[in-house]
Amino acid sequence: MREQHDDAPARGRLAPSPTGRLHLGNAWAFLLAWLWARSHADGRVVLRMEDIDPERSRPDHAEAIMADLRWLGLDWDEGPDMGGPHGPYVQSLRLGRYADALETLSAQGRVYPCFCTRKELRELAGAPHARLADDGSPAYPGLCRNLSPEQREELLRQGRRPCLRLRCDALALSFADAVAGPRRMTLEECGGDFALRRSDGVFAYQLAVVLDDAAMGVTQVARGDDILASTPRQLFLQRLLGLPSPRYAHLPLVLDHQGERLAKRHQSLALAELRGRGVAPGAIVGYLAWRAGLLPAPRPCPPAELAPGFSPEALPPGPVVLPEDIGSVLLALG
Ligand code: GLU
Repeated sequence: MREQHDDAPARGRLAPSPTGRLHLGNAWAFLLAWLWARSHADGRVVLRMEDIDPERSRPDHAEAIMADLRWLGLDWDEGPDMGGPHGPYVQSLRLGRYADALETLSAQGRVYPCFCTRKELRELAGAPHARLADDGSPAYPGLCRNLSPEQREELLRQGRRPCLRLRCDALALSFADAVAGPRRMTLEECGGDFALRRSDGVFAYQLAVVLDDAAMGVTQVARGDDILASTPRQLFLQRLLGLPSPRYAHLPLVLDHQGERLAKRHQSLALAELRGRGVAPGAIVGYLAWRAGLLPAPRPCPPAELAPGFSPEALPPGPVVLPEDIGSVLLALG
């Protein structure tokens, strides 16, 4: 694995998907990613809009997300609104780069068409002895790995549209996560051969994110620990494509008072909603900073005050469970 040089200027990124409005869980992850970058004297922050999925992404969400981030007090040095030397900073404008990398991997004999439908894979996963990935989702059982050219042609003739999968090695990848500690996982545990392009032609997150992080000189990635099992896949792609690996910090998730992950239905926890109730951005930042162990008690605080000395290694373990009346708690903070 090529490691980034320790003395390279730190470059972090905020990589929202414009599929909805930001909620407190997003604010937590973006605040910590921002603090990690800004804790370095000449640390830079890149904003990248991950609108790779055209069905789920909307330009008005992208605009609203940038407004929410600015409202919180998080800024960036390069991004869709201001440009920069590594743009464009919008995934839908980078498709040619993803296609080129897919070609490179194809030329290595690494890519194969997979005709399995989701339904077929679900049924197989329900079968006894189905292989499960680390996160409990079904691992791809390799059905289309060794189809003959004739079999492929026949399936194409039947009108089946394949996704493209990466042929993975039976390999364990190690990385030192700044929050989760040293990790070693096999690609099999992470779900086996994974998709690089969906059957509808949309490039997969794994491919896009690896290429963009490298092209944008990102040296450190902080994101929710629900993505931990993607990291060995991304390390493997970096290895195949000769790209450097950033440092990773997989952050504890924010949960509602019932222990549920925050989602769109948690409308009351959307930043826009809280702002509408009169909650101040400093109250959100200060509350989250307290939960991150950065303040001894919650109080309104701008992000920049928290940056000196910040280190993800020092974050308390485990998820952050919000109280039921979090809106009132934030309002009371002033
Ligand atoms: N756009 C992804 C998300 O919103 C970010 C994933 C990543 O940080 O690698 O979940």
